[in-house]
Amino acid sequence: MHELKLEQALSLLQHAGYPLPSLSDAPVQTVLQALIDGLCDLSLRDALTGLPNRRHFRAVVEREIDRVARTGESALLLVIDIDHFKHVNDTHGHAAGDLVIQTIGQRLAECVRPMDTVARFGGEEFAMVLPNCHPAYGEAVAERIRRTVEGHAIRLPSGQEIHVTVSVGGAFAPQWVRSSAALWTERADLQLYCAKTEGRNRVCLEQSVVSSVSSEEKCMLFGVTTWDDSLE
Ligand code: GH3
Ligand code: MG
Ligand code: MG
Repeated sequence: MHELKLEQALSLLQHAGYPLPSLSDAPVQTVLQALIDGLCDLSLRDALTGLPNRRHFRAVVEREIDRVARTGESALLLVIDIDHFKHVNDTHGHAAGDLVIQTIGQRLAECVRPMDTVARFGGEEFAMVLPNCHPAYGEAVAERIRRTVEGHAIRLPSGQEIHVTVSVGGAFAPQWVRSSAALWTERADLQLYCAKTEGRNRVCLEQSVVSSVSSEEKCMLFGVTTWDDSLE
């Protein structure tokens, strides 16, 4: 055990607040297992918000694609971007910006069911997967998220309260078709782009669920490299 170089791993986990068994008392296997579990957990979390990070999110999306293709249930992917966030940083400073990102992350997580996954996708952007979300409810869910952010002020350490808004883009996983994480995210991103260009602080969801299957996705379903038009 002493020959292993564990100091850096231990210090990383201690700084992140993970409880670790005592190196001197606990069996070697217990210590190593705790270290491995802690490092795995750490590698899947975003350091600022504690939410699942992009790596974790990608794995969740891939799992969900499999489930949707097997069960035919619908699942919604949302991408959520804070509006004019650069202005928050420029006006109130980077630390205040960090606090805004943390607070929005918390609020988003509070808005959804335990079975949903909310992740920090990067910068001031978040993403969510909502399994078993019927298309008829997608708009209402996304709108509730948008309104929650709009309706709650964020108190900065200076005591000042600020309001921020988010733009939301969303797309449903194509049912019965094996898609890819990249394609599904790209569709939701396209809708986010629409929400931004239409004025921000709004929700745009891809409308058609079935007819939005791309030829690339059809190829994944049927395992062919060139799409045959007669299959459409
Ligand atoms: P839009 O409404 O089009 O999304 O405008 P925006 O200002 O939100 O977007 P833009 O991409 O111009 O700026 C995003 C800013 O977010 C720039 C970057 O410095 C800041 N940012 C990214 N990550 C962090 C972070 O972790 N903390 C803080 N404080 N700022 C961050
Ligand atoms: Mg933004
Ligand atoms: Mg952005």
